[in-house]
Amino acid sequence: MTATTAKTNLLGMSQGMLEQFLAERGEKPFRARQVMPWSHQRGVTDFDAMTDLSKKLREQLEQDAEIVLPTVQSRHDSEDGTSKWLFATDGGQAVETVFIPEPGRGTLCISSQVGCALDCAFCATGAQGFNRNLTSAEIIGQVFVANNELPRRDNDEPAVTNVVFMGMGEPLANYRNVIPVLELLITDYGYGLSRRRVTISTSGIVPHVEKLGDECNVSLAVSLHAPNDELRDRIVPINKLHPIADLLDACWQYAAKRANRFITFEYVMLRGVNDSLAHADELYELLANRPAKVNLIPFNPFPGTEFRRSSAETIRHFQNRLRQR
Ligand code: SF4
Repeated sequence: MTATTAKTNLLGMSQGMLEQFLAERGEKPFRARQVMPWSHQRGVTDFDAMTDLSKKLREQLEQDAEIVLPTVQSRHDSEDGTSKWLFATDGGQAVETVFIPEPGRGTLCISSQVGCALDCAFCATGAQGFNRNLTSAEIIGQVFVANNELPRRDNDEPAVTNVVFMGMGEPLANYRNVIPVLELLITDYGYGLSRRRVTISTSGIVPHVEKLGDECNVSLAVSLHAPNDELRDRIVPINKLHPIADLLDACWQYAAKRANRFITFEYVMLRGVNDSLAHADELYELLANRPAKVNLIPFNPFPGTEFRRSSAETIRHFQNRLRQR
């Protein structure tokens, strides 16, 4: 996805990492706070154009570093305003990024891995298997490219106001590379988004949920999809390692670390599998009186899948049951 040279790609470095990189070259750490806005806010990748840096530093950076973006393989803009990019990777498999404009915001759905190892039964990515983790540069590069290719908003802010890790991959399985990206998204020297506007979506790697709560408490969405272990073991296999009770404990602790923070629970509606009123009652019992929101998702069938989408009527009944309870 990125070119390999002897130079260090600064694109995916958090402020702390960039400060260290500069300190190793005899520069003051605050220079990181000058370099970052040039690239992440102004879209500049040429050090020579960073005019408030000393000539000596610019020359040093030219020699040792570079800012390399992921390679856009294709971009498709739909009539509804949605834009979709495919980014090329070295193995030939592309990863997807989608921009969804809505009133008052623009949400970018980004990928964190090439493929995914978790093999959720209803997921097209899981069916492809795992290739490799994306680097921090390849992940933040998706935001960089979208902001630079899309027109700015009416208030002259960048197009992307919200970022969700709901593209290809399980972000908490690529924890080491995702954390610097989260830092870049929320720092004022990077993208300056509030933590509420950055959402990690996980299928439930419990130790990393706990760690994330301490290190970078952004919004959390959990792919629950089943209200009991027997069913969840079957459709979200990571459940065998981290069952629902452990996952929910970690979620409530996560929510408690920031007052008034809801956890979103994703629930894909699979016909005849998890969509009965009894399932709705079980789901209610799990989440009642907790800081939880449920997002019911109509299933998107893909070639070779055994699952079918629940009817609109079934989804409505399920939703009404949760509301009534
Ligand atoms: Fe698909 Fe997410 Fe499950 Fe991976 S963790 S298989 S990307 S649903």
